[in-house]
Amino acid sequence: MKMGSAFNLGKVFGIQFRLHYTWFIIFILVTTSLSWQYFPIVYPGWSQSLYWIMGIITSLLFFASVLAHELAHSLVGRINGIPIKSITLFIFGGVAQMTREATRARDEMLMAAAGPACSLAIGGLFFLLQLLSRDMSEPIAALAFWLAQINIMLAVFNLIPGFPLDGGRVFRSIMWRVTGNYKRSTRIATQVGRGVGYLFILGGILMMFVLHEWLGGLWIAFIGWFLENAASSSYRQVQWRDVLQGFTASQVMTVDCPVVPSDITVNRLVQGYIFPSGRGFFMVADEGRLKGIVALHNIKSVSQQKWEMTQVKEIMTPVDKLNVAHLDQDALSILEQMDENDINQMPVVSEGRVIGLVDRNNLIRLLRTRSELGV
Ligand SMILES: [Zn+2]
Repeated sequence: MKMGSAFNLGKVFGIQFRLHYTWFIIFILVTTSLSWQYFPIVYPGWSQSLYWIMGIITSLLFFASVLAHELAHSLVGRINGIPIKSITLFIFGGVAQMTREATRARDEMLMAAAGPACSLAIGGLFFLLQLLSRDMSEPIAALAFWLAQINIMLAVFNLIPGFPLDGGRVFRSIMWRVTGNYKRSTRIATQVGRGVGYLFILGGILMMFVLHEWLGGLWIAFIGWFLENAASSSYRQVQWRDVLQGFTASQVMTVDCPVVPSDITVNRLVQGYIFPSGRGFFMVADEGRLKGIVALHNIKSVSQQKWEMTQVKEIMTPVDKLNVAHLDQDALSILEQMDENDINQMPVVSEGRVIGLVDRNNLIRLLRTRSELGV
């Protein structure tokens, strides 16, 4: 799934929240349909400005509800050892970017169920608020009623058992638990997910051409198309994971990795190594012993006037702060480690000596070549 254009909202509990631009479309749609149509039709007699104020507040609370749903996933995930890097809120809700998948069926089940459970709980609270405010304030009761419904709909929609929806994840975790086979469970869950997607598309088309519900039908078909797409790409990801798991660092590393000694100056590094080779990443080693790595961002941390007086060892990322791969580590866990630490290269070390380098691009090239060859 492409998460291209998104705005950073900031961090909550150490998780980066991002807002996809499609959210602005949804926000405007929800606000206008509430203020223009729903509230005036169901609750006639409010002032025009009150319709708009209630529309905006209700939309914002809807947005907060989706945020809470995603936060519930992340917090339960984190408690169970699945770190969440960022969450992007987009048109149908949110997508959490995990750095790795659950390794136990139980963890996945809890994490997947947490979101819909949270939405149900919020829906219940708004129903309660509606009951309490019914005789006091019609606008508040109206807001609470709409939010109660939408949160319950959010829970129900997400519980559809098609991967990668929450329901699909729950479904997979149950199968995983029963069969003990993660791969097969994922395959089945993603196929069910694609089936659900096709059913939505078919339903949408029928709505359009049989019931002449053009907008509603188009919307349903669009959701179906989105679900089918997401399920297929999840399936491909699982296949990639399989491929990567079959390789070890020794098979995917490059051995002609550029090494520089630690006592040369930054100026010498730039003039003698970076410019001639065009590379932006070097391992720093003395007599084969890895001391650290140096990349362009390390160099940029010192001003150009000081390049002649600064040694590489002063600016490098030292080995004790470094993520290194072992010779027999599988490529998948290397990729996960890179994701977790936001890095693109990892030196491969055996008995303290640098013997190669795994580059993210190498892994991606490996996947591409294999899929092109169909192996
Ligand atoms: Zn969810």
